[in-house]
Order: sequence, then structure tokens, then C-alpha cells
Amino acid sequence: MTLALKRLTRHFSALAALDDVSLDIADGEFLALVGPSGSGKTTLLRILAGLDYPDEGSVTRNGQDFLAASARERNVGLVFQHYALFRHLTVRENVAFGLRVRPRRRRPSRDQIRARVDGLLKRVQLADLGSRYPSQLSGGQRQRVALARALAVEPDVLLLDEPFGALDAQVRTALRRWLRELHEELGLTTVFVTHDQEEALELADRLVVMNKGRIEQVGPPHVIYQDPATPFVCEFIGRTNRIVMERRGDTWAAGGWSVTAGSSGGRFRSAVAYIRPEHLSLSVPEGKPAWGARLRHVYLAGSIAHLDIHIAEIDQTLEVDVASEDLGRLALTPGTALRVAPTRLVAFPLDDSPAGLPVVGERWVMQDRG
Ligand code: ATP
Repeated sequence: MTLALKRLTRHFSALAALDDVSLDIADGEFLALVGPSGSGKTTLLRILAGLDYPDEGSVTRNGQDFLAASARERNVGLVFQHYALFRHLTVRENVAFGLRVRPRRRRPSRDQIRARVDGLLKRVQLADLGSRYPSQLSGGQRQRVALARALAVEPDVLLLDEPFGALDAQVRTALRRWLRELHEELGLTTVFVTHDQEEALELADRLVVMNKGRIEQVGPPHVIYQDPATPFVCEFIGRTNRIVMERRGDTWAAGGWSVTAGSSGGRFRSAVAYIRPEHLSLSVPEGKPAWGARLRHVYLAGSIAHLDIHIAEIDQTLEVDVASEDLGRLALTPGTALRVAPTRLVAFPLDDSPAGLPVVGERWVMQDRG
């Protein structure tokens, strides 16, 4: 089963909540929709769920018109951030709800419903809590009930909108791993909306990065992280440093650092470069182009240390990540003088307009293998 979304547009008055969105969702895929608030993630999910309709565009499933099917006929399971459990029903009754309200000819027998609910409660690790009411559960337990309820009808597609948004970080991490395992065990197709890009990178087969109703990039996590296609994706996914480079002869340069330009950046005179914190080398040998930097702060975060380094010649503070065990080996204490250069960057030339806008189609990647 492939869901093919073609040229979807949805306006609310003058605002395009979705603007020409096309996307294929493969059978068995775990897809994460990420993007800032208001970028259109929920609107897209609601259209798939049959709770809203696009102004233009189509969705087909194996070539059949998906939008013409009612929400019930689509056979999707839905879980939202705010566990909309029925307060007056027990956990068991909540999970059984979608089966009980089926038309008689499609409704399983009482025994079948009981067996399915038992199986699901076991699967979501709540077998002992079936007779409790939602108010007697923790947030994480409620979200697992909501998932079990969505799964009870054996959906083809599971749609999740920030399902762990209201939970604390530890519960969230545990639940997302559990969700990924469940997705694999049950062979589901899952579309997951999240604000949390770390969650998306960890969980999904592919990420869809949205911005202002449009898709900026679709790809597997490592591609989105290593090869962001647009400045927006560079800045939205993961941490990054942004510097401006200028063309000097046959090099791109910023302060005392430069790199051979070759054909990169073509005719343009300046460019913006994005450098991940782990792609800054702190001990560049004499003779190689580098910035002179001073270490300002060390923030120890378990196995990784985040460093702030100040580079006077470009008047910028950059973030650098090193393995914590390297702090001692490299004698990294505040005040230390360093020779710093990027080992990898993603660059976009800036056009000649007064604002100097990035030219996305001329993007290039520089990698120092040296
Ligand atoms: P968030 O992460 O904050 O949930 P989102 O990416 O899910 O955001 P959407 O909820 O899809 O964003 O909203 C996209 C845009 O459409 C927003 O600007 C929102 O205000 C607008 N919008 C959504 N639903 C409606 C509606 N029913 N009426 C008017 N505007 C709406």
C-alpha cells in the first residue's frame, strides 16, 4: 500500500497552511513530519485522517482516491498529544471502543473483542491496569492506552500528532523506542508529527521537513542531518554554526581561514557556510589555514562536551563538540588559545540583492579529508 499525496494545497483565508505538497508514503514506513509551529504538519495529518480536506490536490492509496473515502473507511488509527480518552470508561472499555461502535456485521463477537483488548493491553504493557479509569493513570500510561485504542481497529496507517508532547523527557525517550519496536512488530505504516527533531532523527525511516506549508526536504535521518538541502534545514535540524565567506582569488575565505574554491560557488562573491559543532578541528597544524580562537566555556554534557570558542578575526563565537575524554588530552580549559578550521561545511552562495539571499540551487559541500 502506497499513499501518494500530490500537490496538496489548503488555505485558511489568505494563509496557505499547505502549499503544493507532494509526497509518497511507502507501506511499512515510519515517517516523521517535523517543522516549526504553524508549518502545516497537523493540517497534513488531519487531511490524511479525513478530518479536513485540501482545496486542491489528491491523495491516492494504491491508485484509489483516498480523499473520497470517509474517515472510517480509511482505516487509520489516530493519537493526539492530549490523550482524548473517555473519562467515564475504564482502560479496557476505552481500548474496546472502536470495535464496539462498529456496525453489527463488522463487529467482532464479545469474546473476540475481549481477546483483542487483552492482547493489546499486554503489548502496551498495561495488562494489570485494565479496570482503572484514565484519571488513575500517569501521562505515559494514558498515551499507551490511546495507542492501544488506535491499534484495536487494526489500522493500515497510524497517525500520531505529538503523542509524547506532554510527557517528561525520560518517559518520552522510553516511549519512543517502544513505539518504534511496536511499529516494526505490527508492520504498521506510521506518520508521526513532532516538534522534536531529535525524536524524529532517532525514530523515523524518513523525515519530512516542513516550513510555511511547504516541504523543504524529505530523506532518511542521516541525509537530512549530513546533507541538509536548504539553509532552513541546516538551521532547523541539529545545531549548527553559520559564517559568511567571501571570494578571495581562487579561495573562499573568512578571516585567516580559507579553502580552495575550485568550481564551487561559481560567479558569486560571498556565501554562507553552515558548520556542525563536531566539524570544527581544534588543533590545526601550523602552515594550514586556520582561525586563531580562544576557548571561552566548556559545558560538560555526559560523553560529549560543548565548547564556546571566540574567533576575534571574524568576531563570532562558535560552538564546538568534542568527546569529554578529549578535554584532558587536548588540555581544553577556558582561556586556551586554539587553531581552528572546519573539516566539513555546507555552503550556499549569496546573491547580489541588497539582502544577499542564499542561492539554494548552487549549494556545495566542502569536506577536508586531510
Ligand atoms: P504546531 O506544531 O504548532 O502544531 P503545525 O505545523 O501542526 O503547528 P498547523 O496546525 O498545520 O501547523 O497549522 C498551519 C497553519 O494553518 C497555522 O498558521 C495555523 O494557524 C493555520 N490553521 C490551522 N488550522 C486552522 C483553522 N481551522 N483555521 C484557521 N487557520 C488554521
